[in-house]
Parts: sequence; structure tokens; C-alpha cells
Amino acid sequence: MPECIFCAIGARQAPAEIVYEDEETMAFLDISPVAEGHCLVVPKAHARNVFDISPPLAGATMRTAVRVARAVQRAVKADGMNLWQSSEAVAGQTVFHFHIHIVPRWYGDGGIHFGGRHRADRSALHAVAERIRAELNSQSPQG
Ligand code: 5GP
Ligand code: ZN
Repeated sequence: MPECIFCAIGARQAPAEIVYEDEETMAFLDISPVAEGHCLVVPKAHARNVFDISPPLAGATMRTAVRVARAVQRAVKADGMNLWQSSEAVAGQTVFHFHIHIVPRWYGDGGIHFGGRHRADRSALHAVAERIRAELNSQSPQG
């Protein structure tokens, strides 16, 4: 099993609620969501962060992020969305495989808090993943 957890998820050697996959990228639910529908979008090939990823692969990952963000927005009826990327520990990166967070936002949600999170209930993650998959399946190829 690869040492990097996101490489392991990409190789289907570690479990995750995968909502989208293409040749170069994938998206899955964050195991400790800061909001319902919190997803991570990653390139399948390992890259550490923004300093290391090739621009074309970063582009492919952003393309997937846009597509998934729109599906998440519909699935959880978000009022808005934060796309978030951390590079290096000083910036808060804890998993050293490039990823873009997709964090739905609602009026009155009190803000997003990355500290003090716990793992979500597996059935709750599965339920929201199913809704996001359904939205992706009904989406036009343009997103
Ligand atoms: P970072 O702090 O590096 O920007 O974000 C890493 C994110 O990965 C965190 O939000 C954390 O909850 C999530 N994460 C860590 N390990 C796993 C895992 O094994 N599976 C999933 N799905 N998410 C993970
Ligand atoms: Zn990796």
C-alpha cells in the first residue's frame, strides 16, 4: 500500500466515498468534514503541493473542482462555496498530496473551523456522497 493516503485512495487500496473520477483526477468526501458535503479534489499522480504540481495537472484538478463544486452546491443546497488549498505545514497542509477543498457555505453557518473536528459518521458520509453522485450524473459535460 502506498505510504501517501491519497495515493492509496487513488489506487483503491484505502477506502473513501469517491464521488467523481476521471483519468487524471478524483474527488472524495473529507473524512472529517467542516461542513456537510466537504470534498477533496486530487490529481491521481502524486504531487506534494502547489510548488510541485505541473500546471497542466493543476488545471485538470481545477477543472474537476469546478464540476464537483457545482454538484455539491445542488446536493446540499449551499448558498456559496469556499475552494481552499494549503501548501506546506506553515499554511496548514497536513496531507502532503495536492488537494483542493470544496467547502459549502450557508448564511448563518457561523464560519468554517478547521480545528477540533472529528470523523463523520460513515452512514452520514455515504448518504451525502450518494446525493453528490446523483447530481454529477445529471450534470451536463460542461458542468
Ligand atoms: P489539509 O490540512 O492538508 O489541507 O487537508 C487534509 C484533509 O484531508 C483534512 O481535511 C482531513 O480531514 C482529510 N483527510 C485526512 N486523512 C484522510 C483520509 O484518510 N481520508 C479522507 N477522505 N480524508 C482525509
Ligand atoms: Zn500521494
